[in-house]
Amino acid sequence: MKIETLHSHFLHSSGICTDTRKITPNCLFFALRGDNFNGNEFAQDALDKGAYKVVIDDIRAHKNTGETILHGNSLVLLQKLATFHRNYLKVPIIALTGSNGKTTTKELINAVLSQKFQTTATIGNLNNHIGVPLTLLSMTAKTEFGIVEMGANHLNEIAQLSAIVQPDYGYITNFGKAHLEGFGGVEGVIKGKSELYKHLSENERLVFVNGNDEKQMSLTADMNRFTFGSGDFDCSIVLKNASGYLQIEYQGISIQSNLIGLYNFHNIASAIAIGQYFNVSAENIKIAIEGYTPQNNRSQIIEKNGFHIIMDAYNANPSSMLAALENFRQGKGENKILILGDMFELGEHASTEHQKIVAYLEEHPFAMAYLIGENFSKTHSTTSQVKLFKSFEEFTTFWSSIRLKGGNLMVKGSRGMALERILDLL
Ligand code: ATP
Ligand code: MG
Repeated sequence: MKIETLHSHFLHSSGICTDTRKITPNCLFFALRGDNFNGNEFAQDALDKGAYKVVIDDIRAHKNTGETILHGNSLVLLQKLATFHRNYLKVPIIALTGSNGKTTTKELINAVLSQKFQTTATIGNLNNHIGVPLTLLSMTAKTEFGIVEMGANHLNEIAQLSAIVQPDYGYITNFGKAHLEGFGGVEGVIKGKSELYKHLSENERLVFVNGNDEKQMSLTADMNRFTFGSGDFDCSIVLKNASGYLQIEYQGISIQSNLIGLYNFHNIASAIAIGQYFNVSAENIKIAIEGYTPQNNRSQIIEKNGFHIIMDAYNANPSSMLAALENFRQGKGENKILILGDMFELGEHASTEHQKIVAYLEEHPFAMAYLIGENFSKTHSTTSQVKLFKSFEEFTTFWSSIRLKGGNLMVKGSRGMALERILDLL
């Protein structure tokens, strides 16, 4: 089937579905294969539940009816359809990637640009080879601007996602120590994320660059770019106050954010810069930034039963861990207690990177640091302010025994550690 024909089916449908538990009437169902399911086996179910047509790539799993579109690979077809749709709509798109802060930045950019444009942005964290095409396919004739988050844990992934998106504008939040396992080290991370720069569409080819990041400045020296940061850049933004919620000054206007952590300064600054570039007024940028509150345990402040908690249990890697520790250390408050969980996906770097965190804690002692997980439990510490636990269960038993009545906590670990469980213990 020609892609044009498939696209007209798509336009006739109510949208894409990939999960028969969430079928909407008249949708175009794509049978995808995951680790646990083969979507082809659910194609008939999708039709029974009201799908308009189904795209399959395994005829044996489904008896052919008139509503079936057979293709060698449903996922590849979904991606091709997404690119076709993106070019059909001709909507300007900004794509972003980076090691940390993608979702936060994507949401801030969306808040700012939606002050002026009808936007379509990645929902939540759907930033992979399935989420990215689904994001493109959620754009409609009403969409005036697309904002797409792209995630990667190995080389060439951003190149592939960028080829699908064909973004006009690009932004890389940072090069950090995340997914070292798949990228094979920091140089691999830089190479992998920079693939975005090479794959911008012919139209605009503009990159937004954090002027305070030397590596990014040198990498983009020959590119069409718009720079921002505290200093003499295309867009100048000043950090006024970093203790507690970040306060920022931009074009003489004071912006009071709901975000903590110095690292969030760059996330906010990029959204302001992108707003300025697309002529969103400073007043509207202020409204957008002030209206944004982080979700899902991403640097949230929680008060519970005498505990003041910086809850950052959404995820962790060596660079975001150090950024958060530094921020907590320099912030207000006495008697600071850390509850940290293992950082995953570090491969052969796991033991050194966990040991580096312990070294940091020995150099900058907190009142107490409780380190939880297989990796942390294998580290060595010479101070009594660091205590190691193999598992969350082991920590729970200990925590119940000390009966702490309150304090200043920071909680951070990889998603799999689910350290937000601590809230049940307070
Ligand atoms: P994912 O890889 O899961 O998509 P992400 O890149 O989208 O993550 P966010 O979800 O925005 O990142 O933020 C996750 C956490 O990363 C935050 O809670 C914070 O601890 C940390 N973080 C956010 N921005 C930065 C930054 N610019 N530098 C370092 N760490 C950051
Ligand atoms: Mg994300």
